Amino acid sequence: MTEYTGSCHCGAVQIKVDCEPDKVFECNCSICRRAGWKLVFVPADKFELLKGADALRDYQFHKEHIHHKFCTTCGIRPFSHGKGPDGAESYSVNVRCLDGFDYLGVPTEHFDGAAI
Ligand SMILES: [Zn+2]
Repeated sequence: MTEYTGSCHCGAVQIKVDCEPDKVFECNCSICRRAGWKLVFVPADKFELLKGADALRDYQFHKEHIHHKFCTTCGIRPFSHGKGPDGAESYSVNVRCLDGFDYLGVPTEHFDGAAI
């Protein structure tokens, strides 16, 4: 596992993620396709919000299973989180917000979030 730090654009929100992605996902759900996310999924124990809980605002839609948090200053969404089908809390992380992660160097796979 590699430890990556990441942030929103203005730096108010800072995160830490332990992951070793061999691929990233592009999701076709209504919010990911608009935002242009490339994402990886990590379990809750591999994600840490280092800074910025008070800078985040929550956005929910559809079944309201997922918290689409965004920085109230710069508008960027470094992560979202919610319970998966198995009931476990998990995070999706916008790899474009991670420091030093070469997301162009790994394959991109399609994720059919629109079907969920
Ligand atoms: Zn920000």
